[in-house]
Amino acid sequence: MTIISLKYRIALVLFILQLAIISPLLWFTFSSYRNAEMKQMEAREDIFLELITQFGRKALLTEDSSDFQLFIAPFTKDLHIKSLILLNHDQIVVASTNPLELGSAYKSTKDEKRTVWKRKEIDNATEKLGSVVIHFSRIDLEKRLEALQWKGVGIIIAGIFISAIVGVGVGTLLTRRLQVLERATREVGEGNMDVAVSVPGHDEISRLALVFNEMSANLRNQFKELEQAQHELVFQAQHDLLTGLPNRLLFDLHCCQAIANAKNKNHRLALLFFDLDNFKNINDSYGHQMGDSVLRIIAARLTMQFKDENLVAHLGGDEFCLLIEKIENDDDAGKIAQLILDTLAVSVECEQHEFFLSASIGICLYPRDGEDEVRLLRNADTAMYRAKASGKGTYRFYSRELTSSVRERTSMENRLRKAIDRGELRLNYQPQVCLETGNIIGVEALARWSSPEFGLVSPEKFIPIAEESGLILGMGEWILDDACRQMQQWRTAGNKIPRVAVNLSALQIQRSDIAVLVSKTLDSTGLPPSCLELEITEGYILQDADRAIRVLQQLRNLGVSIAIDDFGTGFSSLSYLHRLPIDRIKIDKSFVQEIGTTSRAAQVAQAMVNLGSTLGLSVIGEGVEKTHHAEILKSWGCQEGQGFLYSPALMPDELSKIRDFRTRT
Ligand code: C2E
Ligand code: CA
Ligand code: CA
Repeated sequence: MTIISLKYRIALVLFILQLAIISPLLWFTFSSYRNAEMKQMEAREDIFLELITQFGRKALLTEDSSDFQLFIAPFTKDLHIKSLILLNHDQIVVASTNPLELGSAYKSTKDEKRTVWKRKEIDNATEKLGSVVIHFSRIDLEKRLEALQWKGVGIIIAGIFISAIVGVGVGTLLTRRLQVLERATREVGEGNMDVAVSVPGHDEISRLALVFNEMSANLRNQFKELEQAQHELVFQAQHDLLTGLPNRLLFDLHCCQAIANAKNKNHRLALLFFDLDNFKNINDSYGHQMGDSVLRIIAARLTMQFKDENLVAHLGGDEFCLLIEKIENDDDAGKIAQLILDTLAVSVECEQHEFFLSASIGICLYPRDGEDEVRLLRNADTAMYRAKASGKGTYRFYSRELTSSVRERTSMENRLRKAIDRGELRLNYQPQVCLETGNIIGVEALARWSSPEFGLVSPEKFIPIAEESGLILGMGEWILDDACRQMQQWRTAGNKIPRVAVNLSALQIQRSDIAVLVSKTLDSTGLPPSCLELEITEGYILQDADRAIRVLQQLRNLGVSIAIDDFGTGFSSLSYLHRLPIDRIKIDKSFVQEIGTTSRAAQVAQAMVNLGSTLGLSVIGEGVEKTHHAEILKSWGCQEGQGFLYSPALMPDELSKIRDFRTRT
């Protein structure tokens, strides 16, 4: 829209005012003056005519006009009087300002322009004596009036223009101040709230400026509040409320940018996806509040550790993600994964409980393992499952073969659900022998899954799946029942195997009331409690020692014995070991198999045997494959052994055929 400036409007108003009012007024004044002038002239002419008439009468009466002629002679110089004539009663010129006419008959001539003829008859009481004729010229007057008129027109025109210019000037003064306000308003409109105007004076415009300043200050405050609220909203939308870490949304955004950046600069990226191992147990055993507190502590630790260029995000639950921009090679990503594991390895103290956490980490590299954030995340997730399947607390790199292995894992989980009902699951028993006598002093029940689809599946593979899916709870009940039933069957058949060892999963201890279950199973199978040993891995006890001690005590009160499985692999510490209500430690096979070498593991194995006897616990060496393993263990004072040297895990009927086990020396 075109704007007609206020100054032009003011100029226009003054112009019209001048034209419509001032000019007619001026014209009226001029006309009145002109009329007055004319009337005055007329009056003067009439008086003059009267005077001349008096003189003329005298001349006509005396019939001597010489004096009269002398009297009027000077008037020839008067511009106003063109001619002055005295006529007798016969219309003969007796006196005239034009002497050439004297004595001739008077001929009246036509009125010239701007002249006037005036005639006055001269009478006495009885007769007509003659007349006076004067020819007046108005040229002089009219010229004067004309000049005056032009001056008036000039004044009017000048007035009109001056008023227009004054209008523009006054308008400019006004609009210049308004323009200051306009500019400021526009700036506010464009989002610059830090505007204040200064319009000096004490008029409406300066007051408007003050109001404007107040308004912009108010707007500024409101805008700031709005901005803050907006920031908060954006923050909340992009961050996890629990930990304050970036959430999936922000992570995706950031990842997208990082990928674009990496593409431009030919960088490599690493995406580490990790999941806390067994975190569900904390929630299940201690409630979600405790779980949340632990997550917050972990989030704070990770933020401290990776505060610089890397982005740590909480994707929900116990899943985190770390994006490392710019890495040189796979090793770098591996080192960072190890750093995460080390960061988590420091125990978390929360409400007077101490938790030992670990994570399984999947690593994916850009561009090798995926071109976009969705694929990278999915592949890192796949690699993470791989890390879980490899025993947790570790990291794995993604490889294309992994995708198929995850698919296999899912279908395996589905099959495993039906394995018990279909009778695909059974227990094999591995003898445990007395190193001194070679007699069987017990058997360990080990689960076997023979799937029509996958063939014979190792427990190393299906037990972790069962644990992660929770299937282990039902499966564990079945295993306990089956082992006790089998043991009681052997006993009633006269086979004097002193005890059966059953492996318990950490989840079973955390999630179910294991003492009640064991007691019920013993009741239903009729197996004496002294014939049952429960194996629990060291890792679980470390996770929550206080609770473990409570549960183990309940189990022991039932009369069953407790063995710590895989002893040595879970960072055992003496500080808790002596407090545990246990009967036996099972030295992990990784140590036993080093016996006879000069390795540190062999020294540790000996130390474990010593530790056991110091604490008054039985010690059993697991994974005895070679004779010298048995010999050396025995020489250290270890009483029991288990391993392929004696027998692998066997089917119940195979086992019952074996009569006498002796150390093969
Ligand atoms: P584990 O409890 O440490 O069981 C001992 C494992 O060592 C068994 O493997 C056994 O076959 C193997 N082994 C025994 N002697 C030797 C030896 O001389 N050399 C070597 N290299 N290995 C030997 P298996 O049966 O494959 O079981 C693997 C793991 O699966 C077990 O380790 C246990 O953690 C888990 N598992 C097996 N059955 C059950 C079960 O019924 N319940 C639970 N919760 N876990 C089970
Ligand atoms: Ca075991
Ligand atoms: Ca073991």
